[in-house]
Parts: sequence; structure tokens; C-alpha cells
Amino acid sequence: MSSTSTRDVYLVIGGSGFLGRHIVNALLARGDIVSVFDIVQRYDDVPFFSGDISDEAQVGDALKKSGTTCIIHTASPAHGLEDPALYWKVNVDGTKAVIAAAQACGVRKLVYTSSAGVVFNGADIIDVDERAPFPEKAMDAYNESKAKAEEMVLAANGKQGLLTIALRPAGIFGPGDRQVMAGFVEVYKKNQTHFQIGDNNNLFDWTYVENVAHAHLLAADKLNEPPLTPEQKNQLISNPLPQI
Ligand code: NAD
Repeated sequence: MSSTSTRDVYLVIGGSGFLGRHIVNALLARGDIVSVFDIVQRYDDVPFFSGDISDEAQVGDALKKSGTTCIIHTASPAHGLEDPALYWKVNVDGTKAVIAAAQACGVRKLVYTSSAGVVFNGADIIDVDERAPFPEKAMDAYNESKAKAEEMVLAANGKQGLLTIALRPAGIFGPGDRQVMAGFVEVYKKNQTHFQIGDNNNLFDWTYVENVAHAHLLAADKLNEPPLTPEQKNQLISNPLPQI
């Protein structure tokens, strides 16, 4: 439950998706009021708004009708498509429209699902945190558009009454996933399992989907608290940034 006396009203953008649905479930489980905005409807147990985030009027309409005070924005085309224009349209133009609609409708909080891939350029990265810079050349169009969206969301923090935060999950696994396991099964079916990347010691981060959903609720709640003083911030980041 939210730590303020006034409970937030949530709109999960991309709430029909894998992670989005788990966020909806987590909000319902703690008794919060939640609606979904998506281009696809997969569930009918919460109010649903059909729309595309690149259309600011559609987002604004859903915000007004639902009385949203906190947006959790998880929408994105899946990674791995050969369509840079789609990534730009949804992740960059769409996120810009979400921010503009949120500010116009007096929404108080925006939590954005970014990606750990925004700091990845193909070289090894170990133990990095949020201080790691974006690479000069992004890994691909998906990660470039996610980085741009993250930058816009964070730049909007504190503007026109909107507080913002961005999370960078690594690989997400768990029930409802339609991408990762399907990809593994395809590789297996093609009898490609004897292929190996690197020296077989490569590591990749994975997080269980309910934990990623929980992190989004914690992030939303954290925006209720006053920002850290510079001293508190320094204490938190006093450890040196690991070498990349
Ligand atoms: P998903 O494809 O299951 O869900 C995304 C949802 O967004 C879908 O329901 C889709 O219909 C919706 N959507 C897409 N374009 C839209 C648009 N223009 N307007 C409105 N809705 C739209 O993906 P997911 O795996 O649940 O990923 C959720 C978020 O997490 C994404 O932002 C993704 O970039 C990020 N992420 C995912 C992973 C992962 O391993 N799955 C890792 C890191 C970050």
C-alpha cells in the first residue's frame, strides 16, 4: 500500500504485456485502483483503454477518464525487430506523448521501464550501476530508443508537478513470457544447441518477473518521499564506480 494518506490511482501503459500484467497483478493484490492502456487487450478484469502511446490525445483521454495520479509506462515493441522507425515512433515519440499528456492532465508520478541494455555496446560490463554513461554507439535501434526515452523521462522530473523515475531491468523471466523461452525453444528445435558464444563462461543477468514488478511498485512509492539531500546522495554513491 502507498505510504501517503492519499492513495494513488494507477494507469499501467503496456499493461497487457508480460511485465505490465505482473505489475497490474501486484497492484490489485495490495488493493490499489488500476487501469490498463495498450494497443492489445488480453484481460478483462480491470478497466481497459485501447490506444497507441504515440497519440497524445488517446493517452490524455485515458488519464482523464481513469483519474490517474501515477503512470507506470512499460510499453515498447519487443527487442530484436528489424524496424528502427517503429522503435523511434513508440519509444521516443510515444514516451514524449506520455510525458506531455501526464503534465497536461496533472499526473503526479511517472515510472518508466527502461532497460539494462541502454548502457551495453557489446563489450563486457560487470557490476555497473546507474552512473555508467550511455555508450557513444548504442547496441541497436531498440536500445538507442530506450536510452532516449529514459533521458526524456528523467529530464521531465520536477517539471509541471510531475515526478519521474526510470528502472533498468536486465533479462526478465517467469510466467507469461512470450519472448525469451520461445527464443530458446526455437534454437533447440533447430538443433542449434551445439553452438557456443565465447568460451562458455559468458554471464547474463536475469530477474524473476514478480521481482521486477515489485521494483516498479517500490519506485512509485519512493516518489512520495522528499528527494535526497546532496549529503545523503553522496553517502549512497561513495563507493567507486567499477571499471567497465
Ligand atoms: P511485452 O511485449 O510483453 O509488453 C509490451 C506491451 O506494450 C504489449 O502489451 C504491447 O501491446 C504494448 N505496446 C507496444 N506498443 C504500444 C503502443 N504503441 N501503445 C500502447 N501499447 C503498446 O514486453 P515485456 O517483456 O513485458 O517488456 C515490458 C517493458 O520492459 C518494455 O518496455 C521492455 O523494453 C522492458 N524490458 C523488458 C525486458 C525483458 O526481458 N522482457 C528486459 C528489459 C527491459
